[in-house]
Amino acid sequence: MKEYKTDVAIIGGGSAGLAAAIIIKKSGLDALILERDRELGGITLQCIHNGFGIHEFKEELTGPEFVQRFINEVKHLEIPYKLDTMVIKIEKNKTIYAVNNKEGLIKVIPKAIILAMGCRERTRGNINMPGFRPAGIYTAGQAQRFVNVEGYLPGNTYVILGSGDIGMIMARRLIWEGCKVKAVVEIQPTVSGLLRNEVQCLEDYDIPLITSYTVTKIHGRHRVKGVTISKVDRQFDRIIGTDRFIECDTLLLSVGLIPENELSHNAGAELSSNGGPIIDNNLETEIEGMFACGNVLQVHDLVDLVVAEAKRAGINAIEYIKNRYGKNLKKKDKIKCLTGENVNYIKPDLINKSDISKEIIFSFRVQRPERRILIQFKDENNNIVFKRKKRYVIPSEMIELNINLGESGASDETKTIKVEVIPQPEVLIDNND
Ligand SMILES: Cc1cc2nc3c(=O)[nH]c(=O)nc-3n(C[C@H](O)[C@H](O)[C@H](O)COP(=O)(O)OP(=O)(O)OC[C@H]3O[C@@H](n4cnc5c(N)ncnc54)[C@H](O)[C@@H]3O)c2cc1C
Repeated sequence: MKEYKTDVAIIGGGSAGLAAAIIIKKSGLDALILERDRELGGITLQCIHNGFGIHEFKEELTGPEFVQRFINEVKHLEIPYKLDTMVIKIEKNKTIYAVNNKEGLIKVIPKAIILAMGCRERTRGNINMPGFRPAGIYTAGQAQRFVNVEGYLPGNTYVILGSGDIGMIMARRLIWEGCKVKAVVEIQPTVSGLLRNEVQCLEDYDIPLITSYTVTKIHGRHRVKGVTISKVDRQFDRIIGTDRFIECDTLLLSVGLIPENELSHNAGAELSSNGGPIIDNNLETEIEGMFACGNVLQVHDLVDLVVAEAKRAGINAIEYIKNRYGKNLKKKDKIKCLTGENVNYIKPDLINKSDISKEIIFSFRVQRPERRILIQFKDENNNIVFKRKKRYVIPSEMIELNINLGESGASDETKTIKVEVIPQPEVLIDNND
């Protein structure tokens, strides 16, 4: 078996992996990118709409234009990468096993690892949709790849289940290709993707958005012939007597994304409620020297935030190799971050007590939309250590806050920090929110 040694092994050659590799190489350390696909770039390669790079390059680029800049730099810096190379196992001591069709099974021995494997789409099986298995059922991302990369149309007349961003972007894309999109059906009472996508992708093209409905039957034995949709109650149970039949030949599912963490979990990294690995404020998992960034850690709305997070992971991996590698100095004293009212998950999960006086980037999502709210961070004695007013919050928009908890009253005596999002109608609203 061929064996490779490197300073940092980066698993995944999407935007996160590429950005991390560049910062590591520029510091003088070696990086090796392992990518299972036939080319570098990740999911952005199939996102040919614009809206990428507004923060990073102050320009509005398409996904491929955005990621090509990183690919060019990786090539310019001569950072080694292996394509068609699927990582199949990470051991607790960080030894990596991967396979490709040129070398077979290979072994990579790094000093540090950056997990950048992205996320995958939930499928029909994930949402327990019963019935036959006719042709014509795809995830929205699969259809996006067929149309934008491979040059195939999966069907002619569509129903899209789920109003996530990929579903709405695909609805518009299919109209541009001359297809019919009969409806986007959403189980929640409100749209689940970004509002700008609801306006630009659905309203501008008169595509009906049917909320509080779900698909309850798929018709057709060999090919989809239509779907039955039914209204649901607050518990998402079907309301009898509300069934409607919609004729279509293709059903696209846009019903959520799951961070791709089988490798991390099998290596011994614990996962948190959002499916990403538990990390501290240095993006370090419970396995010393193994860091995570991008969609494998938390599903991001903006690639610019992915890149910023990946750069931090790279800087922390460099710090680890230079100061802690082989010394068993992993910081043990930690404050736990907990989710309270209307908070779905919070990153980081842990704060090193030694970093309490540093600026820490917290990111989280709410469970339900709310207007005029107060974001509060409380310690275990219910003392408020941070608060911020906000005009509105919605689950589809990740919230990022840069906070120095030490300055606002937390100390190394603090055991837990609970984050909650509560309505506060009487508070004044921040002008910049
Ligand atoms: C449809 C859609 C529209 C979007 N629109 C926008 C937008 O308008 N503006 C914006 O800023 N952002 C947008 N985003 C978000 C942004 O593109 C992503 O958040 C970002 O690209 C994620 O980068 P990543 O590197 O974490 O993951 P990915 O790009 O998914 O990269 C992960 C890589 O890891 C590889 N990998 C996984 N497992 C293994 C393994 N075991 N071995 C080897 N390799 C592995 C994968 O093949 C992949 O290449 C959109 C995303 C989608 C899906």
